[in-house]
Amino acid sequence: MNKQQIMELDRQHYMPVFARYPIVLHHGEGPYVYDDEGKKYLDFLAGIAVNVLGHAHPKLVEAIAQQAGKIIHCSNLYYTEEQALLVKALVDISGLDKVFLANSGAEANEGAIKLARKYGKTKHQDKLEIITAEHGFHGRTLATLTATAQPKYQKGYEPLPAGFKYVDYNDFEALNAAITPNTCAIMLEPIQGEGGINIPDAGYLEKVRQLCDQNDILLIFDEIQTGMGRTGKMFAYQHFGIKPDIATMAKGLGGGVPIGAFLASAKVADTFAAGDHGSTFGGNPLACAAANAVLNVMQDEHLPANAAAMGTYMLEKLGLLQKKYPALISQVRGMGLMIGISLTQPGRDIVEKCLENGVIINCTAGNVLRLVPPLNISKDHVDEVVKVIDEVLAIL
Ligand SMILES: *Cc1c(COP(=O)(O)O)cnc(C)c1O
Repeated sequence: MNKQQIMELDRQHYMPVFARYPIVLHHGEGPYVYDDEGKKYLDFLAGIAVNVLGHAHPKLVEAIAQQAGKIIHCSNLYYTEEQALLVKALVDISGLDKVFLANSGAEANEGAIKLARKYGKTKHQDKLEIITAEHGFHGRTLATLTATAQPKYQKGYEPLPAGFKYVDYNDFEALNAAITPNTCAIMLEPIQGEGGINIPDAGYLEKVRQLCDQNDILLIFDEIQTGMGRTGKMFAYQHFGIKPDIATMAKGLGGGVPIGAFLASAKVADTFAAGDHGSTFGGNPLACAAANAVLNVMQDEHLPANAAAMGTYMLEKLGLLQKKYPALISQVRGMGLMIGISLTQPGRDIVEKCLENGVIINCTAGNVLRLVPPLNISKDHVDEVVKVIDEVLAIL
């Protein structure tokens, strides 16, 4: 099929929820992807922070192929070595005690919300309210879009599940004022991704942790975008010397194979009993083999450290760009390879022009260019992207 035919089939038959770019992607290698016409793009979106090893990493491809030939799926009624190894690895890197494996970010968060409610109801009578932050993003299922304090995701889906309350992100006093004896959990992204790469002030997350401890409120960190080495450490909370009661993961976990997870301390996890939660596909051996391969490569190739180094380098380069275009760029911010370029105007034009020039990035929150590339990139790739953005801004 040619590009026009593919686009036409999609237009006729896919539900009209995506505003897609007119590009048909065909294959990838490392940080590059190629469209069906052979055009090459440097991929600094990486499937939205998913392809942490880039495309077609030989070790990931090999692990998936081997596992596919062995057993792709079996029910969670049985044990597999792949799953046992993965939950052990996740406990080791997180400092938490127990894991549940799901298939996506929303599903991981959905499970985290259920666990928090179970804990709140078991330990305290009907303590079930969850506080989340404005401009956060937690997913598209009914409970997670309710946790997502952004009207544009909620409109049309009412009635929304009860028990959620919103406060401004990074405003400790507002949070402190919002808690009640009914507050069961506070759920936050350590750095807001979809909301525009928003980094909290020094001390904010530590104070939230303290507030939770003082009031027996669970702290849930949604590390779906920030986790898996993205910010320069395996989990973003590890920058702050704190630990949540529940952490959720997905995006980078399988290197592109769908898998999500929620992790909890034993105290919280042990309020779940047999039958309380489940998933047909969650943690199947194919997804687990992929995640194990990603974690092994991450460790062998020191990818969190590379993310930190490349992030610092890219922020330097983008800082120079900001000096060059002060009327266009209001701020450059990020941690590791989770970087936002805040613009004084909408970013969609710039994203499209970058695409024409062979660079994939995206725009979030209207005017923030988001760069979340594979974690194994080198300085040359950063230079290449910054050069293209520079060229695009020059002719804007
Ligand atoms: C992407 C994302 C989600 C939702 O993940 P899905 O796999 O799309 O359901 C939830 N939380 C955060 C922070 C995310 O970045």
